Amino acid sequence: MKTVTTLAELRSARAALPGPLGFVPTMGYLHAGHISLVELAKQQCKSVVVSIFVNPAQFGPNEDLSAYPRDIPRDLQMLQDAGVDLVWLPTPETMYPPGFQTWIDLEEITQPLEGGMRPGHFRGVATVVAKLFNAVGPDKAYFGQKDAQQVAVIKRMVLDLNFPLEIIVGPTQREADGLALSSRNKYLSEAERAAAPVLHRALLAAQAAYAAGERGGAALRALMQSAIEHEPLARVQYVSCADLLTLHELDTITNGALLSMAVYFGKTRLIDNLILD
Ligand code: AMP
Repeated sequence: MKTVTTLAELRSARAALPGPLGFVPTMGYLHAGHISLVELAKQQCKSVVVSIFVNPAQFGPNEDLSAYPRDIPRDLQMLQDAGVDLVWLPTPETMYPPGFQTWIDLEEITQPLEGGMRPGHFRGVATVVAKLFNAVGPDKAYFGQKDAQQVAVIKRMVLDLNFPLEIIVGPTQREADGLALSSRNKYLSEAERAAAPVLHRALLAAQAAYAAGERGGAALRALMQSAIEHEPLARVQYVSCADLLTLHELDTITNGALLSMAVYFGKTRLIDNLILD
């Protein structure tokens, strides 16, 4: 496995790799969710490139950029064990050269849900992902369903900007008790960690109600909200039952739905989602 930092090193290492090329962008502090995307890429592609970059532009002023967990030696060992060919660790100066002023802003799709709660977040995500795509030039790029709106935003951007690549979405990887794997889980206290699987339980309760015939968006939102509120350490920021394409809240489900939520445990904000189809 080769590890590179500069654009020039990336370009020459990338040129030597046989295609098709799979690409997994990450912010590091890797877990089995990231590795599942690497494994998917390994199955479908001849070569796999992973980037690790904690992107300042997608963190809000009151978010956890400086505290975001980092452990590059451990990440590199995990990627080597997973059979990755090339790891790119760009510097902030490469991604945001002095005087930087070129941003990618998507419109409606970034307004609801995470975009509503985290203004500017998807501008940072779309801009950095476009730059990573330009530099790496993958045939397929891999994203986790865990970040459902991110997937919708990136797919829209790929269509709108004619990126010559395919977006592949991997399923959310979970702990045995249902908690979605996340680099942020390490912030949870023992009691918060014990409480956190309530997100998944709420999603499963809504899925069961849907399977039993419930089609009301408000009813499913209320059901998830009250399931989470049973857990005293959980503070709901939003629960949503939204259209799969527009992400607008639904009154009635006719064509599937995205159930999603953001919930605080102390200062730690966790998200989760599930697709009804
Ligand atoms: P991050 O390092 O948080 O930016 O995540 C990098 C990629 O891993 C994104 O495409 C995430 O959606 C994906 N990812 C994060 N957590 C999980 C998970 N539990 N299961 C599957 N994919 C995940």
